[in-house]
Amino acid sequence: MTSISAYQNALLQIDDAAKLLAADYQDQKTFQKILQKIKTIDKVATATLKITLDSGETATFKAWRVQHNNARGPYKGGIRFHQSVCEDEVKALSTWMTWKCAIANLPYGGSKGGVCVDPKTLSANELERLSRAYVRALEENFGPWLDIPAPDMNTNEQIMAWMADEFLEIKKSQGDFKQNYLATFTGKPVVFAGCPGRLEATGLGGCVVLRQLAQKLKMKNSQTTIALQGYGNVGGWFAHHAEKMGFKIVAVSDSRGCIYNPQGYTAAELKTAKKTFGSFTKALEAGNIDGKALPAEEIFALKVDVLVPAAMENVITKDNVHKIQAKIVFEMANGPTTSEAEQILTKKGIMVIPDVLANSGGVTTSYFEWVQNVSGDTWDYEKVMNKLQPLMQSAFADIWQMYQNKKGVSVRQAAYLIAMKKVIDTTWCRGNF
Ligand code: NAD
Repeated sequence: MTSISAYQNALLQIDDAAKLLAADYQDQKTFQKILQKIKTIDKVATATLKITLDSGETATFKAWRVQHNNARGPYKGGIRFHQSVCEDEVKALSTWMTWKCAIANLPYGGSKGGVCVDPKTLSANELERLSRAYVRALEENFGPWLDIPAPDMNTNEQIMAWMADEFLEIKKSQGDFKQNYLATFTGKPVVFAGCPGRLEATGLGGCVVLRQLAQKLKMKNSQTTIALQGYGNVGGWFAHHAEKMGFKIVAVSDSRGCIYNPQGYTAAELKTAKKTFGSFTKALEAGNIDGKALPAEEIFALKVDVLVPAAMENVITKDNVHKIQAKIVFEMANGPTTSEAEQILTKKGIMVIPDVLANSGGVTTSYFEWVQNVSGDTWDYEKVMNKLQPLMQSAFADIWQMYQNKKGVSVRQAAYLIAMKKVIDTTWCRGNF
């Protein structure tokens, strides 16, 4: 079987959803016209970034900013630094951002950026030069009401601070003070107009969705067992909030191995084990934490209620999907389940809660940062947390309703239907297509 590219996959997803949505529209001619519009990328901007390395030599890197669709508001999407970044991938990711923002009810379209670079080979100074070069090369694409980048894979709040600073300096040199350009980049450090609570927002948002789901499926939180793959920013905060909501984490893994204890782990003991020993298996060997050590991959085979991939993409594949015994796969990572694996999960009756819903707490808090920056307001931690939860609840409720109304669709398909319907209906009433 020949594999298809990420962007081909994104287009197929649109076609699949369109088949299910078509019956909702009487005027098929207009519907098809709008479909063509949303299958078309608005803009692909490319650049070759040239930076001086610490050695004095020059290095060049290919860079992209892709804007998929802005029917519902300014483009929004992260910037990824990775050696496998290519135009096809950035186009797919920008399309998925359009859906993610629509699902989260945010007034944004979708975009994405990327640089083809292995950031581990660069020093901090070189990374700073690269980040600034990216903004200088592509600045005409950015702005608080045009396109708002954020961190993505291998980019973080420090990189956003360098990028925002570069952008502000460019605007200053142009004598342009027309807008609050601080609002152009989100995911900045809190001290530099960032949003309190941003770091934990993805984990918390996921737990809010899980709590709603448990209610719908009549699962008692205290009896719901969770296996958590990955204990970085998302996994760590997911564990923290899952415990607060009464869920039971019985297994956790990092890149070195998995630990399993049917009695459950507290968030505090997981945090201490990871912080003190660097890996869970080392903490277990040292007697710091109880349970059984398993190879990292065995997290997928555990008999639990909820399997939470919170590490990276493409970890549930046709090769390991047969091992999965969980009732629910809850995608906190981006793209952890391949489409082939998802088809098998569906046949096995295992529900997949898609990344576009489960991890949308991150982009929602980016939106809060933007709202504060454009208005000159500052919110405290409590306000952010109180605003995040109802938005996550309503995103879940919309998708659940669609999932129940359109018989036979998966939760992911229901999410895509919701998102596409919003973009189609907005485009339709605007009339400019
Ligand atoms: P991170 O780098 O902080 O953590 C990733 C963790 O995964 C690391 O601790 C690493 O040790 C672990 N890991 C790597 N290989 C593993 C393996 N084979 N088995 C188990 N664990 C392994 O990254 P993060 O910010 O927590 O992001 C995790 C995922 O969530 C990514 O897919 C990311 O795109 C997605 N995501 C993150 C955010 C956010 O706000 N940080 C928002 C939306 C989506």
